[in-house]
This record gives sequence, structure tokens and C-alpha cells, in this order.
Amino acid sequence: MEEAEKVKVVVRLRPISEQEIRQGHKVTVETDTVNNSVTIKHLQTTAEEPPRTFFFDAVFHPECDQMTVYNMAARPIVENVLKGYNGTIFAYGQTGTGKTWTMTGDLERSEQQGIIPNSFAHIFDHIAKCQHDTTFLVRVSYLEIYNEETRDLLAKDGTGHNLEIKERSDIGVYVKNLSSVTVGSASYMQKIMEFGNKNRKVGATMMNVESSRSHAMFTVTIESSKDGHVTQGKLQLVDLAGSERQSKTGAQGERLKEAAKINLSLSTLGNVISALVDNKSTHIPYRNSKLTRLLQDSLGGNSKTVMIANIGPANYNYDETLSTLRYANRAK
Ligand code: ADP
Ligand code: MG
Repeated sequence: MEEAEKVKVVVRLRPISEQEIRQGHKVTVETDTVNNSVTIKHLQTTAEEPPRTFFFDAVFHPECDQMTVYNMAARPIVENVLKGYNGTIFAYGQTGTGKTWTMTGDLERSEQQGIIPNSFAHIFDHIAKCQHDTTFLVRVSYLEIYNEETRDLLAKDGTGHNLEIKERSDIGVYVKNLSSVTVGSASYMQKIMEFGNKNRKVGATMMNVESSRSHAMFTVTIESSKDGHVTQGKLQLVDLAGSERQSKTGAQGERLKEAAKINLSLSTLGNVISALVDNKSTHIPYRNSKLTRLLQDSLGGNSKTVMIANIGPANYNYDETLSTLRYANRAK
């Protein structure tokens, strides 16, 4: 596998919303899906604020449907996991730009489903095709990282707070006592995911925090055995915490500390990815955040990674959009 194709960075621009139109906001971002570029213009273009163009591995325009995003961004990663390698799909971006839309989407309407439910269907379609000579074991776990603390989203009774991260020579980095559920169908897998999503909301309400302040990590482990030969691939599906700067919201006290931790984990993730892409770095700073530590065996090596940077089109998000484009540009 070419080093260059192991990490891909794509950008998805969401449509302008009804509310943004009503409020008179203007579109300041354009996508060019032929050249895979995104151009952002300040409404008052000046010498200090010239239009800026960034190039990526793929760019999705606002009307791009969920299946196209799946086929271009996620399918190759899932295929690789089915072959026994690890893979990671991230949604990065400011709150409100479409991370959850991209990862989960609308579960009630099949054509509006996001990457996670589409991957379930993909995995079980593959299993149905290979069942005559291969046996599969599919397990899932689902955790959230909030304030550099892990929480088990599949724990039944609200247990599973601040679980310990451990390392063992044979299995690598793992979360102690994290629930793992064996699933035999795409629909059951989806039920488990929905259970975790509910848990996430309840937990956030109880702690009086926004769920956009935590990273949600859904892990699918696929073990297959054929003629006595066993392989295992792991798929990490990550809906990251909102990347917005806190200065805007005037955060103080606990909120400011929380913001510092989010910034730390997102900047560590950026550093890890650019070190992997760079290919010359001998030190990859996985240990600097819980997120990268947990993803250590799913980033780099034989794994494939795609980062989907989500952006909004409106002018009032200019600074955040530019910062997301820069982050994504650096990661590629
Ligand atoms: P985030 O998870 O980044 O905070 P959401 O996924 O919740 O953002 O998206 C914010 C809003 O925009 C939601 O109402 C969502 O349905 C809508 N949205 C985002 N992306 C798209 C898209 N590509 N097409 C249609 N609606 C979208
Ligand atoms: Mg979200």
C-alpha cells in the first residue's frame, strides 16, 4: 500500500440553512469538485483577507448525497477492515457543520443514513456473500471521551465512568472493562448504536454539558476465519468534539478547562496525522491525548484513515471555517 493513500483528507460543505437565509447570511465558501478544492472569501476582500483556495483528496458540495460520501470516503476503509486491517473515519469541524449528519444522518430515512449505518449494511452484505466458506464474529463497543475521561456508552446502568486505559503486549492499547457486544445483523448493530446515543444524551444532560463537547467513538471489530486462518480488522468511527474556539463563547472556569482539553486532543490528533503523513517523523505523539492513544493501532501501520472536515457556508463562520480548512490542509 502506498504511504500516501493511507491518510485521506476530504472536505464536506453543508448547505446553507433556512435560518441562515432568513437572517440574511451570505455564502462565502465554494467547492470545486473537479479540482477537489475549496475557496473561501471574506465578504470584504482585502489584501489581508484575500480569497484562499485549499486542495484535498476529495471535496463534497452541499447537495452531495450520503451514499456518494459513503462510496468515496468510507467504502475503501471498510473494505480494508473486511480484509483484516484497521481503519478510522473521523468527522471533524465546528459544531453545526454536519459531523453527526455525516456519521449518523437520519436513521428514519434510509437514503439519508450516514456513514455508520451504511457501514453496518456494507459489513453484513459482505458477510452474507462469504458465509459459505468463512465464519465471522462481529463485536461492537461505543465510548465517549469527555474532559479526557472515557465513558462506556453501552454500559447498562450508568456504570463505566472514567475507565482505565491499559496496554498489553499481545492486544495493544485497550479500555479496561469496556462493554463489547456481539452482533449478528446490521439492524441489531444499529439498535446497539441507538442505545449508546441515548446514553450519551442522558449522560450529557446529567452532567449538564453539551454532547458536542465530547468525542464519540464507535468501534467495530470483525474477526473472520477461513480454512483455519483467522484475521481481525477494526473499524473506528469517530464523531469528534466541536472544533470551535472557546473565546467566542467567553468560557470560564470548568468550561475553559474543558475547552483546553478538547483543543489539546484535537491538536494532538492533527499532530499525529501530520506526523504519519510526513512519514519522516520518528516520534508520533499518540500518548499526548486519550483519543490518539486509543486509536494508536488504528492510525498508521497498515491502517487506512479518512478525516472528513465539515464546514458551513456562511460568512459569520468565516474564522472557524478557515481554521478547519487549515487544520485539514495540514493533516493531509
Ligand atoms: P454537528 O454534528 O457538526 O454539530 P449536525 O450534523 O448536527 O452538526 O448538523 C447541523 C444541522 O445541519 C442539522 O440540522 C443537520 O441535519 C444539518 N445538515 C448538516 N449537513 C447537512 C447536509 N449535508 N445536508 C442537509 N442537512 C445537513
Ligand atoms: Mg454533532
